[in-house]
Amino acid sequence: MPQRSSLRARRAHARRVLDALERAHPEARCALDYRSPFQLAVATVLSAQCTDERVNMVTPGLFARFPDAGALAEARTEDVEEIIRSTGFFRAKTRSLLGLARGLVARHRGEIPREMATLVKLPGIGRKTANVVLGHAFDVNEGIAVDTHVLRVANRIGLVDVEDPVKVEAHLMELIPRERWTRTTDLIIFHGRKVCDARRPACGTCPVFTLCGWESRQAWAASEPPAPNRRGRTTREASPRRPAARAKRSPARGRRKTTAARRPRGRSRGGR
Ligand code: SF4
Repeated sequence: MPQRSSLRARRAHARRVLDALERAHPEARCALDYRSPFQLAVATVLSAQCTDERVNMVTPGLFARFPDAGALAEARTEDVEEIIRSTGFFRAKTRSLLGLARGLVARHRGEIPREMATLVKLPGIGRKTANVVLGHAFDVNEGIAVDTHVLRVANRIGLVDVEDPVKVEAHLMELIPRERWTRTTDLIIFHGRKVCDARRPACGTCPVFTLCGWESRQAWAASEPPAPNRRGRTTREASPRRPAARAKRSPARGRRKTTAARRPRGRSRGGR
């Protein structure tokens, strides 16, 4: 997407991307297991620097022992640390969880508030966590949760061109209608996990390939591991020579080659 595109064009681009992601990933959901807004808030705090799978392995034991804010507010630090240890940063997370539970009991009768401004004043709750809780527990679209996947994928596709999560969220909110904000988070995170991997994006089978930024596709093509062909050459060694060799043999083939050369490189590799 050209950087100087009008807002209208960027919104249209965002809509096409989201429509394509929706068609490709209808199963995209929040991957954390929870039974209440409080449990979702706890799971989201635990998911920092940790996979959702790991969090889902830990939370059944945690919630069995401390099912709500009242119970967790009474917990001993070492007990919580022991249960959540495998999620990493367990001391800081324990401090956040106990602070959150005690804050909820002291100021909100143990309930998770539904307003962004109130939520982010609670210990351990930043804007990203608040967006997740409001969107999934209350169906309130207050913003777009920007985690590492959203940050990476939104930049790669060309929805945004900025690395600061706060600015990424603001730009996405400008492009995407409010009713799609929570869904945007789910779709992009899912896409980032399943297709647009940080180190090896599967551009060849990507459902938004034709909408994605050219630079990303170049980066993907360059990162392809060389595969030996029948002559024992790698594809990287062989491919630059092919157009010239064919052009010598037949002008017609040369013309076809010109067309093929204009095709995005990832297309032919992915077989789409
Ligand atoms: S084409 Fe590649 S870089 Fe672009 S979104 Fe798809 S997987 Fe990611």
